[in-house]
Amino acid sequence: MNNLTAVEVKNTHQEIISLPRPIRKSLDYQQISLYKDVNPLDWEDWHWQMKHRVSSREELAQVIKLSPEEEEGLKKATGRLSLAITPYWLTLIDAEDPSCPLRRQAVPVKTEFLVSPHEMVDPCAEDRDSCAPHLVHRYPDRVLLLATEHCSMYCRHCTRRRLVGDHAQQEETNHASRFDAAIDYIKSNKKIRDVLISGGDPLILEDEILESIVKRIRDISHVEFLRIGTRVPVVLPQRITEKLVTMLKKYSPIWMSIHFNHPKEITKRSKIACDMLSESGIPLGSQTVLLKGVNDRPYIMRKLMQELLQIRVRPYYIYQCDPVRGTQHFRTPVSVGINIMEKLRGHTSGYAVPTYVIDGPGGGGKIPVGPNYILSQAKGKYVLHNYKGKIYTYLE
Ligand code: SF4
Repeated sequence: MNNLTAVEVKNTHQEIISLPRPIRKSLDYQQISLYKDVNPLDWEDWHWQMKHRVSSREELAQVIKLSPEEEEGLKKATGRLSLAITPYWLTLIDAEDPSCPLRRQAVPVKTEFLVSPHEMVDPCAEDRDSCAPHLVHRYPDRVLLLATEHCSMYCRHCTRRRLVGDHAQQEETNHASRFDAAIDYIKSNKKIRDVLISGGDPLILEDEILESIVKRIRDISHVEFLRIGTRVPVVLPQRITEKLVTMLKKYSPIWMSIHFNHPKEITKRSKIACDMLSESGIPLGSQTVLLKGVNDRPYIMRKLMQELLQIRVRPYYIYQCDPVRGTQHFRTPVSVGINIMEKLRGHTSGYAVPTYVIDGPGGGGKIPVGPNYILSQAKGKYVLHNYKGKIYTYLE
């Protein structure tokens, strides 16, 4: 236990774990009765966090006061999208307030099970554009590899809820051959220069399994770079270990798209995870989903974007919530997103302004939408308004 004062210690898997002082001061998880006897080494061990995810109503009720809507949702949440919440994320949730933006993302409510005729199982038509098992090819020069069906936490707004969940087959056992057809497809298609590894969350794979996938793709000469899509730095920051970043660094350039949705998700602990990634040369971007009751106010979105820059994560996209079955309670009108963009552009640093996109239902890909700054256009002349509404004429 003397090691606990050290900045770096080894856990039971011989991984080096950082326990910086600011975090050690805020070990507030021990105030939650469920975790009061957990020692900091276990808490910082991502395997421990995975093993102790809350996945039943009974466990959850020990930590938060469930509302009738949540009770109803939990009764029904026995289908494909499992309940799984990391202990770390539970410490960020307001135990008393069902409208807590982090709680809304993790705890099912009864409205998740209402049926809407506008919603689809696979609104982005990824299954249609699948060119090999676990591989989606929509855009000319890039593909999406679905490396796993599992996540550390299951987000109630997940677009891939048709695929992900703890019910999904345990694929890790036969991972070596699992992606053969996908790798062969990428090898044989020389136009593919960019591979996005997503899932599920690929960072919950063991280092060796992830490395075997990354290496096979990086060995293909026409693939210029890789991207990893993940929520791990937000929901399980303990997973970002020295061993992981050292491994990823070998396969540079790798970029990472992280799914941040609310300023409360930016904690001292998630900052450390992002710092470790940045300092190993991985550029970080954020893909945020516009969610009713979570981040649909301009001031919240502005705070999120500004705070992301402080942890060196570049706001990349704001997604209109896809019309996936079970998410209507999260969806806002498009005008809400346009208004947010209007309140960002010009009002804060350009780096804090992402692109707002609608994924064209049926497989149209990402379509940028936003305020229209062009008032009129004639030959050689544009009439525009700026972020304050002042009008300017530009002559070509
Ligand atoms: S981490 Fe990503 S894939 Fe997993 S449930 Fe959340 S949104 Fe879906």
